[in-house]
Amino acid sequence: MRMEPRIVPRKEHRISRKHVSPNALRTLYRLHSRGFIAYLVGGCVRDLLLGRTPKDFDIGTNATPGQIKRLFHNCRLVGRRFRLAHLRFQDEIVEVSTFRRSADPSDAVEVDEANQGRRHVRHMKDENGMVLADNIFGTPEEDALRRDFTINALAYNIADASVVDYCTGLTDLKDRLIRSIGDPQVRFTEDPVRMLRAVRFAASHGFDIERTAWECIRQLCSTISRVSPSRLYEEVQKLFLLGFACPTFALLEKSGLLVSLFPDLAGWARERDGCFEALERHLAGIDELVRSGQRASVALLLAALFGPRLEEAAMARHREGIPRRQALDETCAGFLKEISRGVQIPGRVGARLNAILALKTSLCRMPPRRPATLAGRPEFAETVMHLKTAAGTEGEHQAALTWWKAFLLENPPAESAEAPADEAPRKKRRRRRKKPRRGRSSVVREEGTAHGQ
Ligand code: ATP
Ligand code: MG
Repeated sequence: MRMEPRIVPRKEHRISRKHVSPNALRTLYRLHSRGFIAYLVGGCVRDLLLGRTPKDFDIGTNATPGQIKRLFHNCRLVGRRFRLAHLRFQDEIVEVSTFRRSADPSDAVEVDEANQGRRHVRHMKDENGMVLADNIFGTPEEDALRRDFTINALAYNIADASVVDYCTGLTDLKDRLIRSIGDPQVRFTEDPVRMLRAVRFAASHGFDIERTAWECIRQLCSTISRVSPSRLYEEVQKLFLLGFACPTFALLEKSGLLVSLFPDLAGWARERDGCFEALERHLAGIDELVRSGQRASVALLLAALFGPRLEEAAMARHREGIPRRQALDETCAGFLKEISRGVQIPGRVGARLNAILALKTSLCRMPPRRPATLAGRPEFAETVMHLKTAAGTEGEHQAALTWWKAFLLENPPAESAEAPADEAPRKKRRRRRKKPRRGRSSVVREEGTAHGQ
């Protein structure tokens, strides 16, 4: 898809510096003043052109990670698959990446001169053509062409405030079309996550997926299982917790991707009268919550998606004579083990899901026993949230919600110090490594280098 880039001057596009985060602007200016190319790249340019507020600001440059690190004291180099610089500001991280290009086979292993000739994998594909590492520097154009979709390959050049389009991003943005850069068959094989991203952008932006790309998704949907479970966990959060879970769910189902992500979920719901629709309404409840500015956790999402199925299975065990709580715990444990083969659910999130479903039973018993103790549980707020988002779907919860609303008015909850289950536990402050004393062996000194991070 190589063509002359289309350069749109400032007066012919709507991106104003006023809408760019001051931290990102400062970073762009500093890179530019040191003689480097500095572009805003990726989703933020797409969103600024659409008049939306970008989630984050990414910068592309021809400065190498080492040069970026030397230029910014708040810089941390991260990532193995893509080596990136994170600039940490008080309330924001700006990602700065060196322009990269797609690799050819001769790039498989290159000598990394910065590491004293050590052999360092810069680009690697597995036997199916999936890219495992990709660290070869390139030009701004090459960088744009290795991105996923044309609307995500636009750039904003700080040097003259122009928008640069290396493929057909501007036209596709106008036509509200998600089009792969290059052959979608190849691009989705290189990285099956791109199929989830296509669905996510289509659902969240109300765009269509271009026909060939859509057909490829339908054909390749099962290859999503090649993606690592931990990466899929990250993607599931983006798919379902950004305020568009309901349309995303529908499109995942239509594309075949839902079965690859969560086998049985749709089938189970469709077999039960009204269950699939109830699931969609529950997701719409979560969307409403997120759009009103509240934060929804993964445990809350899992309770919406899988709660009814887990409760049904736990009840069946209970009927066989296993105590109610034990039946639920065993059902949840089995489910988490099974789901984590595809999508890795962290243990603390699984425990929270289990706790929400257990507390839900106690909250719905009318009148509840020892309500003050129940209200003091760490998972109380999330369980009430679960009841609220399910309210449109499970009429019987309405009575419980009304009861607890009245109770909380009379007994306002104390500020809870409990972090939501899927929030990463706070990092311990790292102790500064002592400077190696002169004369110590080189092995000790090497431990402190960034290599192999
Ligand atoms: P969001 O608004 O959700 O942040 P985004 O497009 O900015 O959307 P990011 O995950 O922040 O998505 O990625 C930034 C950019 O990096 C994308 O716009 C795209 O150009 C590129 N990118 C991200 N993931 C991939 C991928 N799997 N393959 C190719 N390019 C990708
Ligand atoms: Mg982004």
